[in-house]
Amino acid sequence: MKNQAENPRAKSTLSRLGAQPLSLLPVLLLAVGSVSPLPAADLQTARELYNSGDYAACSQQAALQLVSRPWMESWWRLQLRCQLEMGEYTQATETYLNASVRFTTSIQLRWLGYRAFRHTHEPVKANILLEEIERLVNQTPWRYSDAVNRVIVGRLFLLRGGDPRQVLELAYDRARRDSPNVIDSSIATAELALEKQDFTLALGSLAKAVEIEPGNPLVHYLLSRALIPTDTPKAAAALDKALELNPNHLPTRLFLAERLIDQEQYDPARRQLMQVLEVNPRHSQAWAYMAVIAHLENKVATEQAFHTIASQWSADDADVDYWIGLKLSQKYRFAEGARYQRRALEQNPRHTQARIQLSQDLLRLGQEQEGWQLADEVNRQDQYDIVAHNLVTLRDRLAGFRTLERDGFIVRMDRREATIYGERVLDLLSRARQSLTEKYDSPLPESVYVEIFPDQRDFAIRTFGLPGGAGFLGVCFGSVITANSPASQGDQPSNWEAVLWHEFCHVVTLQKTNNKMPRWLSEGISVYEEKQENAGWGQSMSAAYREIILADGLTPVSQLSGAFLAPPSPLHLQFAYFESSLVVEYLVEHYGLDTLKRILMDLSVGMPINESLRRYTGSLELLDKEFEQFARARAEQLAPQLDFSDQELPEKPDAATWNRWQQAHPDNYLGLAAYAAWWMKQEEWEQAEKPLRRLLELFPEDIATGNAYQLLSIVLGKQGEQQQQRQLLEAWIARDGEILPARLRLMEIYKQNEDWARVDQLVQSVLAINPLRADPHEQLLGAARARGEKVKTIQPLAALLEMSPVDPAALHYQLADALLADGQLKSARRQVLWALEYAPRYREAQRLLLELNNESGQKPAGTGEKSSSQEK
Ligand SMILES: [Zn+2]
Repeated sequence: MKNQAENPRAKSTLSRLGAQPLSLLPVLLLAVGSVSPLPAADLQTARELYNSGDYAACSQQAALQLVSRPWMESWWRLQLRCQLEMGEYTQATETYLNASVRFTTSIQLRWLGYRAFRHTHEPVKANILLEEIERLVNQTPWRYSDAVNRVIVGRLFLLRGGDPRQVLELAYDRARRDSPNVIDSSIATAELALEKQDFTLALGSLAKAVEIEPGNPLVHYLLSRALIPTDTPKAAAALDKALELNPNHLPTRLFLAERLIDQEQYDPARRQLMQVLEVNPRHSQAWAYMAVIAHLENKVATEQAFHTIASQWSADDADVDYWIGLKLSQKYRFAEGARYQRRALEQNPRHTQARIQLSQDLLRLGQEQEGWQLADEVNRQDQYDIVAHNLVTLRDRLAGFRTLERDGFIVRMDRREATIYGERVLDLLSRARQSLTEKYDSPLPESVYVEIFPDQRDFAIRTFGLPGGAGFLGVCFGSVITANSPASQGDQPSNWEAVLWHEFCHVVTLQKTNNKMPRWLSEGISVYEEKQENAGWGQSMSAAYREIILADGLTPVSQLSGAFLAPPSPLHLQFAYFESSLVVEYLVEHYGLDTLKRILMDLSVGMPINESLRRYTGSLELLDKEFEQFARARAEQLAPQLDFSDQELPEKPDAATWNRWQQAHPDNYLGLAAYAAWWMKQEEWEQAEKPLRRLLELFPEDIATGNAYQLLSIVLGKQGEQQQQRQLLEAWIARDGEILPARLRLMEIYKQNEDWARVDQLVQSVLAINPLRADPHEQLLGAARARGEKVKTIQPLAALLEMSPVDPAALHYQLADALLADGQLKSARRQVLWALEYAPRYREAQRLLLELNNESGQKPAGTGEKSSSQEK
């Protein structure tokens, strides 16, 4: 480990600078624009060399020109920029010193000199240059009021801890208005916005820059980063463009390396980094990522060596630790990530990015107190830090949540939702804990935190620090689970029980491996375990998946994690989950659950997954091949008699055409459904029934939208065939844990037939999808009453009271009565008082209150705060 006590640079440049108030910006506002000298034609050629990545040639050109034209500042600046790019930091400081004698008033040169001295770890000299810039701008503000200089003043202001909003308004926006064709301000704005994760601002700013300088690789690189969250294909195209313009564009190569690390593609990532280091052998961030890869490959000594090299040339002492920690956290190694951020902050306590990252790491580790405190600090320091601002706002909202605890679970839910189905959440988690920890012999942390958000935005901020991430139902960080409640999911919510089962399975496997597991295996086991628990949960082979597999769309096992990162479509992302679960199923079937557990053990001590797989399967190539055969067989077994081919359906069909078509293409998947749909349109129910029955017979597994169950249920309903409809719906819901309308229709049928036992069973699966509806609770209430089980009415009554009932007085009274039967006298009194508050002359309620007073021998208490039966 790097010894911080012996590090002469422990107190960094930044921390020595302090945050003295700057008066530069207002001064600049008073000044008028100045004219900069026009570049000569050969200067243009040299700049093109720079933009194309030929830094050595560009540098040579500059050196040559400087012999005969040392009075041209542009050549000095170009020389400096080339040297910085190539990591010739010492030479860069010399270039600066030579130039500064001639150009005593240039702040652009001083800014480049400042950068050079930081890399050579001469903070005093670097700081002097900043002070000189301040002095120069204060003395003759008019001289620095053009766009390029104004941007440098803005950057300096930010560096001194100035308000980013002010910089945007007074420096960058102003510069853009004054000189719309100079892109410096657009680039500075985009860089600031990306640092603050404000992608919209970055995109807006870059849109114009790309028009003005389409040949500038930096613009395309920044554009790609701004596009990543919203448009992956465009982001990839922008990266390609940047490299096409400049194959040596270091930020782009570095960014590619980062993405490859995310995909667990460590060899290709290393190759990208080597290309960076070929151009700039002293590139500290590239060395930091080399250290990250070594860490992920469990090569401690190599990691240490790379860390040392990275630190030799970093501009800020804390950066290397910050970069390594950030990347490790992105790989779910929150504990290790947090350790690195702490080291970063030891070296530079003013490193805001490290502080907010540590805050997020701790919140994901369940170390909430310190996590929130750090978010608060950053928010106070930097109002523009979007993540910190979001987190602080979220914490205030979380304060209104209710906390439920049982068996080591700490569940936070919206108060109303906690009353309605909080106990169910605890039941489900306890069941999952029992089943999965035993199965995987996994030690559990002392506490597992589960937070369920009725507002998707809050979920996203808690999970990712930012709004967005639609499509995620739940996320697990190791001992913290975040999930969306059914309230945030419209009419067709997913089965929250399945989601929590899946997420809790992540807790089990992440704990067992110390978070050292590839994404695909983690997802694969979670989806597999959903299916093991309930046949209607998880994912099954579908017609779409069958097609992908048979069209050679399987991703080799060794590259599966990448399939989650940049899927070409939402279907492909879903397929990545499915394929991963299929791999797990294959491993369990062919090598046994014990082997799967051994693989997890290997991972926990840092063995790479592919090495572990090789241990038990012989070779990866063999595994890939055998798995492919297994998956193919599964795909081929799906509805083997059904014709899945793509056939053109009749264009303007009548009955005769359709019948002819049908005879020519019997048992075609799409044909049977379309044929039936045509008859349904004619309201010829019997005609429609035949093809649907055939489809079901051949492909009962199909639960995709518009499946035969759905259509046939309509047909049978029209025909008044209730008995058959019931059987059909029962078969459907057994295969599909998420389908709500089928369950509601089935409930109606059971009720009509007074089949209460089945109603009871069905209600449970409705509540697993949407507990926020009144009908399942009414059903539970009715059933409990019919059986005379008063205590069992407590939960549905409490839930119904949260759903704006028509007669709250009656419900409060009934709840009081039930609570009395359960011996909960205090809660019963509260409820009866509520009943009387709604209806003071409520006779039964008055009588019950008297009875309660006699029973407890206490005087009647005040109504107090409204609360539910669950607070004991
Ligand atoms: Zn998952």
